Amino acid sequence: MARSAQPYVLDIDHLLTEEERLTWKAAREFCDAKIRPVIEKHYEAGTFPKELIPQFAEMGFLGASLEGYGCAGMNPVAYGLINLELERQDSGIRSFCSVQTALCMWPIFAYGTDAQKDRWLPGMAKGELIGCFGLTEPNAGSDPGSMRTHAKQDGPDGDYILNGQKMWITNSPIADVMIVWAKTLDHGSDSPVIRGFLVERDFKGVSTPEVHGKLSLRASITGEIVLDEVRVPKENLLPKVQGLKGPLGCLTQARYGIGWGGVGAAMGCYEGARQYTMDRVQFDRPIAGFQLTQQKLVEMHNDITKGLLLALHCGRLKQQGKLTPIGVSMLKRDNVRLGLETARVARSMLGGNGIMGEFHIMRHVCNLETVYTYEGTHEVHTLAIGRAITGLNAFS
Ligand SMILES: Cc1cc2nc3c(=O)[nH]c(=O)nc-3n(C[C@H](O)[C@H](O)[C@H](O)COP(=O)(O)OP(=O)(O)OC[C@H]3O[C@@H](n4cnc5c(N)ncnc54)[C@H](O)[C@@H]3O)c2cc1C
Repeated sequence: MARSAQPYVLDIDHLLTEEERLTWKAAREFCDAKIRPVIEKHYEAGTFPKELIPQFAEMGFLGASLEGYGCAGMNPVAYGLINLELERQDSGIRSFCSVQTALCMWPIFAYGTDAQKDRWLPGMAKGELIGCFGLTEPNAGSDPGSMRTHAKQDGPDGDYILNGQKMWITNSPIADVMIVWAKTLDHGSDSPVIRGFLVERDFKGVSTPEVHGKLSLRASITGEIVLDEVRVPKENLLPKVQGLKGPLGCLTQARYGIGWGGVGAAMGCYEGARQYTMDRVQFDRPIAGFQLTQQKLVEMHNDITKGLLLALHCGRLKQQGKLTPIGVSMLKRDNVRLGLETARVARSMLGGNGIMGEFHIMRHVCNLETVYTYEGTHEVHTLAIGRAITGLNAFS
């Protein structure tokens, strides 16, 4: 009986185009063959598998959603599906690709000059240049508007001088270019406004110390960006956006991918726990035959199906230009919670083996604690949705 059972009662295959199905299959096979065998070793060592970067590029994962400049130009659903497969393996690996694509290439694409796009995007799509996104600071996390990093223009039409510190920046220690958001005073102005700058690795006064001691997202490199009187040419200012909507626009792109990723992590954990409990015998029967185990499996299975449908719905809305930032908040919030809760329950179902790296579940539990917090904490998305549905602001 158990041998003919299927892991999913409902699927979304018939709702996908042929191209989307092929992209999904290719991404799954690639991630399974290339990431799964090495991820545990990197996680334990706290290292990122840099050797995979050219292969991510070959698969079209870097700048996947962008058109031109050597990017794959995937539609939002295909892009979501690759995020799902990357995060099925590891949130840190998905983070690398998300930051490169949504938080660094996207703002250059959307807010940059033609010269900036020509200079950075082709190399970033090939994985020859790495980017990062610096918004958070030691004293400005959920409230990025309180940032202290500032840029002052040095004379009319002059360079900008940047000072400040960014904290918790994915990829910063290996980045060639950093999108830094700073309160900026143009020459002659006395009211600062948030602007984005392309800060290059070799600019004098830039350092990117690595954050050590993380017990989550260990296969992702995290660091600071310290800016000490850094002279940034005016040509490196992103001209097309001003104010908090600049960084928030990037985060909306990244959170969309994370919403798919949360389901991917959940699927990995659920499928692992299902197989394990069908194989593991206690009291003379597979533990999947016990009612308590089945209840856990059914809750996970049903939640995954709903999370996948939400992601697909958001993807189709995005394709039509109708997905709102608050819709993305809902997707990110609920699918990351789904991922974390599924991972925790799956862990319990493997008993002692659940804490072992080789079973690929405990790592998701630890990783998803970060995903729950970054790109807008779970609580902050709750408040944003609460405000949208009541019209009342509970933020402050
Ligand atoms: C591994 C990792 C990688 C990251 N990568 C990046 C990156 O690449 N670039 C970048 O810019 N940032 C990055 N971040 C930063 C991340 O986005 C922040 O950690 C996040 O925004 C939360 O900020 P905080 O850590 O300062 O927490 P705080 O803002 O201090 O929040 C602490 C707690 O208070 C709650 N809280 C805050 N305000 C309210 C409120 N009004 N009502 C109710 N509860 C509230 C929060 O929800 C949270 O639970 C990363 C973080 C981590 C851990």
